[in-house]
Amino acid sequence: MNFLVYLQNIQIIDVIDILLVYIFLYYIFISFRGLKAVQILIIAAMILLMNFLAQFLNLTLFLSLIQIFKYMLIFYFILNFQPEFRKILFNLTNLPIFSSIIRKEVVEQEEYIQRIIDSVMEMSSKRIGALIVFEKNMDLDNYVENEVIINSKVTKELLITIFSLNTPLHDGAVIIRNNQIYAARALLPLTESSNIPKEYGTRHRAALGITELTDAGVIVVSEETKTISYAFQGQFLSRGVEKEELKDMLYDLLLQEKTKEIVKEGAKKK
Ligand code: ATP
Ligand code: MG
Repeated sequence: MNFLVYLQNIQIIDVIDILLVYIFLYYIFISFRGLKAVQILIIAAMILLMNFLAQFLNLTLFLSLIQIFKYMLIFYFILNFQPEFRKILFNLTNLPIFSSIIRKEVVEQEEYIQRIIDSVMEMSSKRIGALIVFEKNMDLDNYVENEVIINSKVTKELLITIFSLNTPLHDGAVIIRNNQIYAARALLPLTESSNIPKEYGTRHRAALGITELTDAGVIVVSEETKTISYAFQGQFLSRGVEKEELKDMLYDLLLQEKTKEIVKEGAKKK
């Protein structure tokens, strides 16, 4: 009975409303798959246009359907065009206004790495043993013990002071997180590997231990031999590292891809 009343009250605009929903659903479902970006863009434009028309003509049912498709499209774009969005953002960073900001950041990064290199070179020459862990994507909190939180800017003086003998923090490792000295006196897991040279004591074993378990990079300065070593992914990539090599390694470990590109461009221009 109610249905009949409803039918009697149906107006021409309601019929158009329902018909539009039908046509719309039909076309969307048969043609959404396997479309190219340009076609999706045309559909997006059509949806916006229909949204406008539906609002203008007050087609409520059709309008609510359009809303659903608008959200679907947004999800579709986010999921499918992630690389394109990243490229657009990447290109935006080439605009003069952004590139000056980025260049300032690059200079700051280069200075930060230089402070680390200077401290490592000085500790080596003064026979100060050091163990510096650079946290990357994996959180090191689950792997280290006993650390004392510092949260301070990286300076050459502070690093050297921390590792100098007879200071309360000199034992163990310094952890660098987000370009800051996050903690000192950290105890790292020792490697259990048996095929490493006998002359490696616990400092070097600790460097291998943490890099076996995480994606961190570690610099070791030997108190006994003054040797600088760099460990990554469970092995020493280099022993007896010189200044320039250390710089290359730290750039590779610590700089983001975009920054590396800018540094390379700068080096070419020089
Ligand atoms: P070096 O070449 O400097 O002598 P090494 O590899 O021979 O280093 P040891 O002589 O055993 O190692 O160095 C001892 C120091 O290593 C300790 O004083 C401490 O600072 C550090 N160390 C030892 N074990 C750990 C650990 N598990 N985590 C972090 N640091 C450690
Ligand atoms: Mg030793």
